[in-house]
Amino acid sequence: MSRGTLFDKVWDAHSVGTLPSGQTQLLIGLHLIHEVTSPQAFAMLRERGLSVAMPDRTVATVDHIVPTESQARPLQDVLAEEMLQALEQNCADFGIRFHNVGSGKQGIVHVIAPEQGLTQPGMTIACGDSHTSTHGAFGAISFGIGTSQVRDVLASQTLALDKLKVRRVEVNGRLAPGVYAKDVVLHIIRKLGVKGGVGYAYEYAGSTIEAMSMDERMTLCNMSIEGGARCGYVNPDAVTYAYLQGRENAPSGDDWQRAVDWWSSLRSDEDAEYDDVVVFEAADIAPTVTWGITPGQGIAVDETIPTPEEFSPDERPTVEEAYRYMHLSPGQPIEGTKVDVCFVGSCTNGRLSDLEEAAKYAKGRKVAAGVKAFIVPGSEVVKKQAESAGLNDIFTEAGFEWRNAGCSMCLAMNPDKLEGSQISASSSNRNFKGRQGSATGRTLLMSPAMVVAAAVNGEVTDIRTMVEEA
Ligand code: SF4
Repeated sequence: MSRGTLFDKVWDAHSVGTLPSGQTQLLIGLHLIHEVTSPQAFAMLRERGLSVAMPDRTVATVDHIVPTESQARPLQDVLAEEMLQALEQNCADFGIRFHNVGSGKQGIVHVIAPEQGLTQPGMTIACGDSHTSTHGAFGAISFGIGTSQVRDVLASQTLALDKLKVRRVEVNGRLAPGVYAKDVVLHIIRKLGVKGGVGYAYEYAGSTIEAMSMDERMTLCNMSIEGGARCGYVNPDAVTYAYLQGRENAPSGDDWQRAVDWWSSLRSDEDAEYDDVVVFEAADIAPTVTWGITPGQGIAVDETIPTPEEFSPDERPTVEEAYRYMHLSPGQPIEGTKVDVCFVGSCTNGRLSDLEEAAKYAKGRKVAAGVKAFIVPGSEVVKKQAESAGLNDIFTEAGFEWRNAGCSMCLAMNPDKLEGSQISASSSNRNFKGRQGSATGRTLLMSPAMVVAAAVNGEVTDIRTMVEEA
């Protein structure tokens, strides 16, 4: 039982009633849709002769299948073109706002909604993508859902859900130079496990989190799902409000202060009761790199790959599988591991501040011979802002490719893929087997700065050795 948390307050405010199954019917304030998980849902609506219940609370973009090089229509990939056309048609037929390629507002769904001020504190948000947890950075309760649930939300603007427990995940102290939000979340997942959050919402708190920018909080919340938590959130504060004020869909005029008062009232109470509390110290967190095939198989960059004895017997089969798949051995340092491909982007780390931080380390350096390195902005807005700041020039002069917005190699449902058993340094969120497009491709997750360090050195590098020069 959790009482007085933001999660409880938002849940209760959106509860329509209790269903015969015992689940709560929860009103969804914002439904984000994209090309991959919506076509079948729209087909099911048509079969049943239903309309979209609240088209004004539904927003669409295209992200997974868009190529990041030429985006000329028709797209070269026939299947991708068909998916894009289906989304265009569905949005037109059902009266849904669609941010198409070239609109100036297209991008990864979890990047565009916050930057347009659509994501706001106290909202319930759903999207047919696991990383919808991102929006919790604003003090929203946000769920990744499956295709049949996308249908349910389209048809009723509600979801049938079991209430979650709430774990307060507290991180205190200052992060050392070269340690980022990505390292914090990889560290949390390493310690709590990829299934540690099952049945929970994670409330991130503590002085380290309070000091984070909204972009950093989004990185943190984005990967909650990788730790098994259905959603993760940060209580809204002055940082949240400063980010939102003046954005296109944010409240304005007299509504602004009313909204801030409402949002502030939703913060977890000082004496809120949690189902669990865990506390981490920022000083214990180092630049972190995954060595295996789950985001929980991560280590500090200066550690060696763990031995089987360091894991419980039930974890060992996955660990053995990881050694085999990754061609890495227990006891081997991760630092110095050669990389073939370096990718900065995704809904975890494809925002402007990620590119700014990456550019600091790219500036005046060159991508190592034989390494393919590319930077993919998370949205058309991020791309434009980065270009205004000259970041594209820094990257291209260093030998990185500068691409258009999309999910790119996070999931490789587009032409950006690993080949054979190539190994990538990636700022994305999943290192599952085959995730980046090759059945034998290997992924090392890390922060954008660490990806750039790997690109210029051709191998996994401790970013702390480059901090002074940046
Ligand atoms: S960047 Fe990756 S995780 Fe994020 S929405 Fe795209 S495919 Fe999903």
